[in-house]
Amino acid sequence: MVIVMAPYAGETALADVVAHVVAAGGEAFVSRGVARTIIGVVGDERVLAGLVVTQLPGVAEAVRITSPYKLVSRENHAGTSTVYVGGVPIGPETVTLIAGPCAVETPEQTLAAAQLAKAAGAALLRGGAYKPRTSPYAFQGLGRAGLRILAEVSAEVGLPAVTEVVDAVDVDDVAEHAAMLQVGARNMQNFTLLQAVGSSGRPVLLKRGLTATYEEWLMAAEYIAQRGNLDIVLCERGIRTYETATRNTLDVAAVPMIRSMSHLPIIVDPSHAAGRRDLVLPLARAGLAAGADGLIVDVHAHPESALVDGAQALVGESLAALAETMHTFPALMGRTLVVPSAAEATVRE
Ligand code: PEP
Ligand code: MN
Repeated sequence: MVIVMAPYAGETALADVVAHVVAAGGEAFVSRGVARTIIGVVGDERVLAGLVVTQLPGVAEAVRITSPYKLVSRENHAGTSTVYVGGVPIGPETVTLIAGPCAVETPEQTLAAAQLAKAAGAALLRGGAYKPRTSPYAFQGLGRAGLRILAEVSAEVGLPAVTEVVDAVDVDDVAEHAAMLQVGARNMQNFTLLQAVGSSGRPVLLKRGLTATYEEWLMAAEYIAQRGNLDIVLCERGIRTYETATRNTLDVAAVPMIRSMSHLPIIVDPSHAAGRRDLVLPLARAGLAAGADGLIVDVHAHPESALVDGAQALVGESLAALAETMHTFPALMGRTLVVPSAAEATVRE
């Protein structure tokens, strides 16, 4: 059951409803959205049947939800949500481009990639300081030093930063340096990490696991929402199939399917899906045509010497082609491209 509080309901009314649920033998999880506060109630059938909450002060409505992911489900949530990242919207009216290097390598490399990303239409900067690498011998990222570089470049170019966090112990540190926390494909079911980013106070970019079904992906999002954080953006980045010619197989159907199952915005990562530069633009276009709310794309000024994922990074002609698409495609979808807002600080005040 989800209890929706009225916009005017205060803390006392909220506490009374929570106490009522607990007294009936249920568990109550409070989620404070921008517009309203909702309470997810967990309990067995007997508890739920005995709960009468609609008469309590401050309660707007109580809805029985059958889906196993209550808070992120589209049931009882007609519109698609808009998530704001350092003031930049990701939602149904717009197309938001997140771009930048796969990994933060040096201040100069990060700045050069960020400037290219901005010129191509990006409103948010990506860049990994902590890299979850398949091989333990591969470059693992600069860690804290990388976070500092990312925050400095983000402030310099005026694009709020999106960066991955791979360990729950680093969440506070990463949240201090970036506007949005990314949970990578390999960590989609790291439940401790999901709960930690759920308590971080920062919006979260949740990538789809390599073998995750839509339901598993939304259950992972539910872990974040259950900690009170509804600012979640889903990212389809390709799944593992029998095909080896591409790095992953972009599941374009995920965009309209997730749209029908959840109110969360969804973006597409054509770079990690393709693994090769020449396929990034066609996959980006396919994602937008399927209705994605944005894209996240790897950009590097010198891909030939990139420490991570150079083969899929855009530069030169391929980046110019993406920029062209960013200027023409959103209108075809009845959307507008999000332009960078006046330099929002990415560091928590
Ligand atoms: C990334 O975005 O750099 C990344 C590692 O992506 P994924 O988790 O989708 O592999
Ligand atoms: Mn990468």
